Amino acid sequence: MAWKTLDDMSLDGKRVLVRVDINVPVEDGKVTDATRIERIVPTIKDIQAKGGRPILLAHFGRPKGQRVPEMSLRVTVPALEAALGQPVTFIDGQYGAAVAAMGPSDVLLLENLRFNPGEEKNDEGFAERLATLGDIYVNDAFSAAHRAHSSTEALARRLPACAGRLMQAELSALEAALAVPERPLVAVVGGAKVSTKLDLLGNLVEKVDHLVIGGGMANTFLAAQGIAIGKSLAEREMTDTATAILEKAKATGCAIHLPADIVVAREFKAGAASETLPADACPEDAMILDAGPETVASLKEVFASCRTLIWNGPLGAFEIPPFDAATNAAATAAAELTKAGKLISVAGGGDTVSALNQAGVVGDFSYISTAGGAFLEWMEGKTLPGVAALTEE
Ligand code: AMP
Repeated sequence: MAWKTLDDMSLDGKRVLVRVDINVPVEDGKVTDATRIERIVPTIKDIQAKGGRPILLAHFGRPKGQRVPEMSLRVTVPALEAALGQPVTFIDGQYGAAVAAMGPSDVLLLENLRFNPGEEKNDEGFAERLATLGDIYVNDAFSAAHRAHSSTEALARRLPACAGRLMQAELSALEAALAVPERPLVAVVGGAKVSTKLDLLGNLVEKVDHLVIGGGMANTFLAAQGIAIGKSLAEREMTDTATAILEKAKATGCAIHLPADIVVAREFKAGAASETLPADACPEDAMILDAGPETVASLKEVFASCRTLIWNGPLGAFEIPPFDAATNAAATAAAELTKAGKLISVAGGGDTVSALNQAGVVGDFSYISTAGGAFLEWMEGKTLPGVAALTEE
């Protein structure tokens, strides 16, 4: 762990620039889900407890370097005030004067950083101007850490920098799951396509002991082994790539788990007539929409033999019952092992979080990352610029 936390910083009387992710859903001028806002509260409270004065930096939507009134962060102020239990001063100009006038218990929120074209370009000049507003930099926006923007990267190099509590929790969980995991380590990768998860599979095959491949991408792997998959979603042009991944797994000693049985249907709709068949028995006019119970039973055994699990992507077309069965059952098994203290379980990615939500197990995993792109890039083994900037001396 080469990055600092709030515990390493002296903040008394300091102006603290805090990069947060409060890119929350809004309807009719109101925040409809304040989860992201609630999650930054511990960081702000800890800064205040240490005598620091928080100045919040954030983006909202994609205004592309222009002032777009509908994308003003002003809309988040009531939800921020409710979460913090104190007033929040919103600033959309004259930043220097506002910061100079800041009282010891004030919290400031600056206007959407992406209104400035410099932000997304990681512009040094824009970062320099931001740096003049504070003494210390805290990054609490893991979900924006895969982008090198002025407020996530260039700014971090200009001021004494550390991770906020949310970033700290996220990085600790992710490091425990993949950088220095307790073994055996199993990864579950599902979802629609191999092509969007190539880097992910390539990296995991080198690092994990067991790799479970599910969902639409498993169909491509079955096809690569010469198994007929009927009308299933698959990328038939990717079968060579799938074969190469299987070869690499053999070389690295990673055990690959593909579905042993499948649930097929002729229609892609809720309650469609379905049947469970061996993986090599998909009828010509049917499509594979989920893994079957035999597959789930063997996954449970794999999970039970492991100490750490990392999960991205559903095992079937989970939005449409009954094709959510394998995802739900496997998720429940992982949750039970976690509750029993036998497994460390980390999951992330947009679809994965909704699948686990649907299975009702979100609270039982060791850690669930809500950061989509950043979580995936980290699982791919890539360096996240926002994290790297925190670790530079
Ligand atoms: P991804 O965004 O790559 O994680 O893919 C998630 C999507 O893949 C979800 O919308 C699932 O419904 C879909 N999916 C998973 N398995 C299948 C399958 N066997 N056939 C069709 N779609 C699937």
